[in-house]
Amino acid sequence: MADGKRGVFDWYFKTNLLLRIFLGLVVGGVVGVILAGMGADTAKSALVYIAPFGDAFVRLLKMIIVPVILFTLVVGTASIDPARLGRVGVKTLVYYVATSIFAVAIGLLFAIFVQPGTGIDLVVADSAAKAAVKTSASAIILDVIPTNMFESMNKGSVLQIIFFAILIGLSLAFLRDSQEERIKKAADNVFIFFEGMVEIIFKIVGWIMQYAPIGVFSLMVSVFALNGAKVVGPLAKVTIILYIALAVHLIFVYGGFLAWRKLGVFGFIKKARAPMLTAFVTRSSGGTLPVTIKTAENMGISRGVYSFSLPLGSTINMDGTTIYEAICVMFIANAIGSPLDLGQMVMVVLTAVLAAVGTAGVPGAGAIMLLLVLESVGLKVEAGSAVAAAYGMILGIDALLDMGRTSMNVTGDVVGALVVADSEKEFDRTRYTAYSGLND
Ligand code: ASP
Repeated sequence: MADGKRGVFDWYFKTNLLLRIFLGLVVGGVVGVILAGMGADTAKSALVYIAPFGDAFVRLLKMIIVPVILFTLVVGTASIDPARLGRVGVKTLVYYVATSIFAVAIGLLFAIFVQPGTGIDLVVADSAAKAAVKTSASAIILDVIPTNMFESMNKGSVLQIIFFAILIGLSLAFLRDSQEERIKKAADNVFIFFEGMVEIIFKIVGWIMQYAPIGVFSLMVSVFALNGAKVVGPLAKVTIILYIALAVHLIFVYGGFLAWRKLGVFGFIKKARAPMLTAFVTRSSGGTLPVTIKTAENMGISRGVYSFSLPLGSTINMDGTTIYEAICVMFIANAIGSPLDLGQMVMVVLTAVLAAVGTAGVPGAGAIMLLLVLESVGLKVEAGSAVAAAYGMILGIDALLDMGRTSMNVTGDVVGALVVADSEKEFDRTRYTAYSGLND
């Protein structure tokens, strides 16, 4: 008996996490459909026992949001060396901002056109939790500036926390560069503290993700038990739109930048296939970085440019994630029967770009940041709410979505390094032409 138990735990922790989350999704869906077939009363009484596991998962995720933004964004911003924020830095950042805005626009346009998630009209036990707060565009902009940072953290006001974290990060970056030994040392200590906090938070996120399969299972049972099989089609639709939007971004936005430097997009894809594929399978921009750097070197991009822009890009430039955020927010808003208004869409543009900056280059990070974008448009992910149920649906297929978006995140970094290097005459075209795309 004891051995049997250990066997189950062994199986659980030793099986690939992605596979477990996927199993949670499928088995949860099947159990949900069976419960739905047994009648509404039976389904509801079973959910009394099953739903708390999903609620626990949602609460764990919510718990981690504020520290994730605060610590990762401070460290991310502080890692920019002010001395390098010269021409290359400015150009790189301009490219990042421009492509991110294109990305969120493409994501939103596709979502407006296809309207993912409509017609599901998720039913939840507590329908009061379904109402979303509508926000107006003008109030949003001013509201980004916190009047009391501690209150912002208490309330979980995402944009205000982002604003403050960027300020702390930037000032840290300057102070770490100070000529005065005392100030430099103090700033370095603070930076090390924040870096340590980031590691701690990621450790906790890792633990929460170990629980994710159970959480996803429970959320799926709830969704399917109360809504039946009508939710399968919409999920397939989200996946397909995301991949089409990513392809459009690749061909038109990156293709456009490359064409400006007189380079073809398809030739580029062939040469960049190693990092693109590595990102696709590892689902981590950070993890792919060694391959990305090697490819940039082989492409003839100067070290001065790529050594700065690729590591930076792998943490703050995430066009794939931005497109994903835009599409998924629309899906969730539609799924709960509360489509986004114009003000909320403006908010999505703002937060999706900023959330992508704060997204770590690790698997699944974008899904956590999706919570921020949702909260910023008033779609609170409360345990037992329709928003949480719709979010759970997205999380169930997140691995599939993560592969595509990570691949695009990395591609954007390489295109950026190439374009900036070429405009600074730091690009060896002969080497680029000769490179076949195979790293030795
Ligand atoms: N996995 C992505 C990356 O590493 C981040 C995300 O989850 O969106 O770029």
